[in-house]
Amino acid sequence: MSEVQYLLATRNEGKLRELRDIFAQHNIRVTDLTEAGVPETSDEDSIESWDTFEENALAKAQYFHRRTGLPTFADDSGLTVEALGGAPGVRSKRLSGRTDLTGKSLDAANNAALLGQLRRINALPAEAAFVCAAAFADAERTVVRTGTTAGVVVQQPRGFGGFGYDPHFVSKELAQTFGEASEDAKLRIGHRGRAFRSLLEAFDAEFNGSLP
Ligand code: IMP
Repeated sequence: MSEVQYLLATRNEGKLRELRDIFAQHNIRVTDLTEAGVPETSDEDSIESWDTFEENALAKAQYFHRRTGLPTFADDSGLTVEALGGAPGVRSKRLSGRTDLTGKSLDAANNAALLGQLRRINALPAEAAFVCAAAFADAERTVVRTGTTAGVVVQQPRGFGGFGYDPHFVSKELAQTFGEASEDAKLRIGHRGRAFRSLLEAFDAEFNGSLP
């Protein structure tokens, strides 16, 4: 395992749980913002205000690298729905407009808002994809890679796993919702797994397997 402590800049427990194995396979010791004791501040929400997942992920990695001095990984992800012209996209977390909610209540409000929009234009079931940009920043360099996974948004939720839009997203590769899928299966074919594996492979290629 690496001597260096790396930071995964997230306050979303689901993400670190999903990604721990991938980091371990690359011998990277990673901690999240809560474990690293980085207090939440009011300016954090404005970091991810760019129009692309890549820009947001890079901005987040650079911001938390500046704040902590640690080599930092970050991601930005969301759901793109064809019938909505790619929305909610980078606005996925804020689709419902409910800034007073977090966790499962925010997920429920976002799912209700998404299904409401799709019902109004009679677009259910709806072709969609999850997208994730994974970024790294330290004092010398930045690297970013993207992963996607295709699916269909359905009216009826299925399964209790995952988070966010997972129970309404039927993966084309798994033929089940991400709420029903095992964590292993979601990581194998999911957007976040694909983005982080690609990012860490870029690391291995650059540093011949030995991390900085
Ligand atoms: P962020 O990457 O933390 O900004 O999250 C964006 C939002 O996209 C989340 O709050 C979820 O609503 C949604 N999202 C991103 N990845 C997933 C996923 O793997 N499953 C379900 N929803 C997701």
